[in-house]
Amino acid sequence: MQEHGNDQDQIPQDVMKQLQGTFSNLPNAIELFMFAHPAEDNVFTKANRQVIRAFRQLSDKITFREYAMDHELAQKWGVTHSPTLVIAPDRYRIRWIGAPVGEEGRTFLETLIFVGLGKSHLSEQAARVIEGIDSPRRIKVFVSPTCPYCPQEAVNAVKAAIANPEQVSLEIVDIQAAPDIAEQYQAQSVPQAFANDVMIGLGAQSEEVFAVSLQKMAPQTIFIPDSDAEEVATDLVIVGGGPAGLTAGIYAVRSGLKTAMVERDALGGQVALTPVVENYPGFTQVGGKALVDIMVTHALQYVEIFQGEEVVDVTPGDPIRVQTTRRKFTARALLLATGANHKPLGAAGESRLSGRGVSYCATCDGPLFKGRKVVMVGGGNSAVTEALHLHHMGVEVTLVHRRDTLRAQEFLIKNLEENHIPILWNTEIKEIHGEQRVESVTLFDNRTQKASNLPVDGVFIAIGYEPSVELAKKIGVALTEDGYIQHDAQHRTNIAGIYSAGDVEGGYKQIVTATGQGSAAAMAIFEDLINPYWQRKPA
Ligand code: NAP
Repeated sequence: MQEHGNDQDQIPQDVMKQLQGTFSNLPNAIELFMFAHPAEDNVFTKANRQVIRAFRQLSDKITFREYAMDHELAQKWGVTHSPTLVIAPDRYRIRWIGAPVGEEGRTFLETLIFVGLGKSHLSEQAARVIEGIDSPRRIKVFVSPTCPYCPQEAVNAVKAAIANPEQVSLEIVDIQAAPDIAEQYQAQSVPQAFANDVMIGLGAQSEEVFAVSLQKMAPQTIFIPDSDAEEVATDLVIVGGGPAGLTAGIYAVRSGLKTAMVERDALGGQVALTPVVENYPGFTQVGGKALVDIMVTHALQYVEIFQGEEVVDVTPGDPIRVQTTRRKFTARALLLATGANHKPLGAAGESRLSGRGVSYCATCDGPLFKGRKVVMVGGGNSAVTEALHLHHMGVEVTLVHRRDTLRAQEFLIKNLEENHIPILWNTEIKEIHGEQRVESVTLFDNRTQKASNLPVDGVFIAIGYEPSVELAKKIGVALTEDGYIQHDAQHRTNIAGIYSAGDVEGGYKQIVTATGQGSAAAMAIFEDLINPYWQRKPA
């Protein structure tokens, strides 16, 4: 793991001023305690000191005390791992095993603000569920510093621990700092949430879905809000916060359209999970998450983004009615920029062992496999980029491809060769084995027709994407034969006022094409709303 600096001089001046303002208005003191082996002085311990020092410069409301692991308070509070942060133990039961570095800085910032405010900031709907829980819930959320999806799930849990401190306790566990706990829970992907040792969430959930999962003690997939949920009138609702949606948002607002964007997961879509993006104009090479952060910062200057919220229903008409897990929108137009989901391999054992060694995100889960043996399945740009990423982080990776030539760009293939990453050609994975977690795979050589067994700790899958069209199908939007949204040159679908952009339309699936489609769709929507084609009389 790299050390992550977080000192004040790295924070832009305007953000600093905003944070100082926020922290100076917090009514409550925020007591932080760190327990660590003094002699150990590992990167997590150092990172905690560094991060907390930066926050303490923002506010004197934050106090910090550091104790050795054999201190009587460690025994009294049952602290077992070094380092552990204990947060405001007089009011809440929130702990952090590891350190809030990388993506987790956001979770830590929000935690400090909520603790300082003494408020959970849960939506009304989620608060009702959490506050109604009347028996103990011991939550554990496994995270990693490189996982863009993790803050959403960790923040859900923090909010629950603040909303119902009598019943809810929380441990945020960095899988790199405490691999033994991850092993104990067989948590081989992040984020994963457990309550009373039962898995309640695999991947990021909206806070309402998390709340019901915690209440029912089983992963839920959907939450329908009460009928009295807030109603918001707008010109345009964009569904999806990837490059297409973000660009459309910027263009629509700048054209004068009141615009709301709803994104159920992390902003940035697939790009946020791409270790390195090559060929995006203006950047020879840029980290996927870094590019997303630039786009999101830009979009936020214009668009109101409702993140962690999911569109559950749409009723076409004038206006179009959009129901999310939290509120209702009425809109004159709807843009579906729902992107694509990773394609499953379809091998036996794959779904059973998902999160138990089967992974679709090398960026998120790679650190767990450092020094271990994995296969990466696929032959396109994603598989090669991610194999290189795993290799550079010290994972022993072998590429498995079903043909004898790669689909990836020449530049990446050369890089693969230079790094001596082994490739199994003409090979398919027929079955993934393991009781609690991945132990081996059955390989099938499609030239010799021979099967063999390869012991591995992980199976990473990057074999392309399937369009996310569940919502489009539910509304009655017509699809192409390949399952993408059917649209015309103005990105209009078969339903008046409903448009599409980005990977959900098919085509080249490059970031640059998605942003182009997003801008074109927004301009078409603007023109159509001035002069609606569905109201024009035939000439
Ligand atoms: P992709 O280009 O569609 O490649 C998918 C790969 O998976 C192919 O090699 C394919 O094999 C293999 N495959 C598909 N189904 C399979 C199955 N059932 N079993 C085994 N193998 C299977 O997908 P991608 O690599 O995810 O890339 C998606 C898009 O993102 C592309 O447009 C790509 O250019 C872009 N991308 C760009 C960058 C960048 O930095 N510019 C980085 C990553 C991705 P065959 O070759 O035999 O069909």
